[in-house]
Amino acid sequence: MKKYELFINGEFVPNGNREMIQVINPATEEVISEVPKATAEDVEKAVDAAYEAQKEWAKLPAIERAGYLYELADLVSKNLDLFGKINAEEVGKPLAQAKAEASYLPDYIKYFAGMARHIKGEVITSDRPNENIFLYKVPIGVVAGIMPWNFPLFLIGRKVAPALIAGNTVVLKPSSDTPNGCYEFARLVAESSLPKGVINVISGAGSVVGQGLSENPKVGMVSMTGSVSAGEKIMAAAAKNITKVSLELGGKAPVIVMDDCKLDETVEWVVASRIINTGQVCNCAERVYVQEGIADKFIEKVIERMKKVTFGNPMDDKDMGPLVNKGQQEHVDAMVQEAVKEGARIACGGHKAQVDGKGFYYEPTVLVDGKHSMKVFHDEIFGPVLPITTFKDLDEAIACANDCEFGLTSSIYTTNADTMMKAMNQIQFGELYVNREHFEAYQGFHQGVRKSGLGGDDGEHGLEEFLQTRICYVDYDTNKK
Ligand code: NAD
Repeated sequence: MKKYELFINGEFVPNGNREMIQVINPATEEVISEVPKATAEDVEKAVDAAYEAQKEWAKLPAIERAGYLYELADLVSKNLDLFGKINAEEVGKPLAQAKAEASYLPDYIKYFAGMARHIKGEVITSDRPNENIFLYKVPIGVVAGIMPWNFPLFLIGRKVAPALIAGNTVVLKPSSDTPNGCYEFARLVAESSLPKGVINVISGAGSVVGQGLSENPKVGMVSMTGSVSAGEKIMAAAAKNITKVSLELGGKAPVIVMDDCKLDETVEWVVASRIINTGQVCNCAERVYVQEGIADKFIEKVIERMKKVTFGNPMDDKDMGPLVNKGQQEHVDAMVQEAVKEGARIACGGHKAQVDGKGFYYEPTVLVDGKHSMKVFHDEIFGPVLPITTFKDLDEAIACANDCEFGLTSSIYTTNADTMMKAMNQIQFGELYVNREHFEAYQGFHQGVRKSGLGGDDGEHGLEEFLQTRICYVDYDTNKK
């Protein structure tokens, strides 16, 4: 069994008698590795290392920083099979999806390395005769990258690549469910020529490591992806030093299916958006509103399609693997049971499951006879469960979609251009997908409103999050010879 070590200032720190966390394969329930539980003192050491390293890192021209990023991306690309396998083992993601996620990591790093020559300022016209006003961008300093378990490889890219190209250094904290990929990444960082301390990796409890990073005065920004409850705690801890936070939190994506949709394609898009990563994606289709005229046909086809969804060991590459842990399995089941108590009917699935007597699986499930007032239409399920209800007109559907404390992603299926434009203007979510599955692009801007977060990732706007804006007023003398 593999035992990993904290990675601080370019060195792996021997575990000694440090407390360890056991990492479990959710398909087999076997312990697959042990990772160290960092202490408050370790957190300080990692932040100090990143803080010292940042002074020289920031001085490098961005194009030189890009060179290091390309080197890292190449190293990851040479190890995609390993990363794919680890991802399948620790998350329970079917192997093809696990490998696809692994391939996003070098791709995303290269995308941001390509931004090296795109960090721009402005020269602003002054109200005074002999003055130039320069607005320019500088790095923030040390970025704490606090990660969830659902995309443990891709999220390394989101935390590291824009931060580094902007001139910041990073302390990464993986989820205790899925730290292995992050430590394998650390191994490649150690092999690379990246200066010591630019990337550090420390695992441990959110209440110790996440909290310690968020309240450390040497941390300039906390970039966290995870649940609303952890986001609230991070915000409170960061408030001690008025530290910048960028929070990518939960979602409750509404799906609006209009009478004039392309029916068969819509069924495929909606089902795909629910079952990817066994429904454990922040932008997954979480609740469906279908217009009355098409409702019967749509629901029948969704049930038929969901019944065909296969699940099994991630290595057997079915449509879905298990949920990430027992707690998640219990949570999904409790949501289904509660919906049934409130009057919903299970049209298919609705049970916890095992494969070969093991694993935290859940059957692909459709809940019909739903009502917008039910809990299952408001709380994040994060599993392969699709609750469906009906609506009369677009205004009603938009009102239901917006009646939500989350505000991350949403979607609408229609062939009417007026309906699309109305949805674009009135659906109050950070992201809207029209006639396609729920999944974002590197060059987009992934951000939630309301309790789904603060700040955003990806693209040029995502890069801006990792930069500070400064301004300088220069009065010059035109008569000077
Ligand atoms: P989580 O909040 O339990 O954990 C996320 C990270 O926060 C972990 O590293 C954890 O250790 C840390 N943490 C926990 N308590 C902390 C504290 N008090 N202080 C500081 N750090 C703390 O989330 P999870 O269960 O790993 O991930 C699932 C959640 O993430 C879902 O709600 C999902 O919607 C969300 N998510 C959002 C996005 C997005 O882009 N918006 C993407 C992926 C996942």
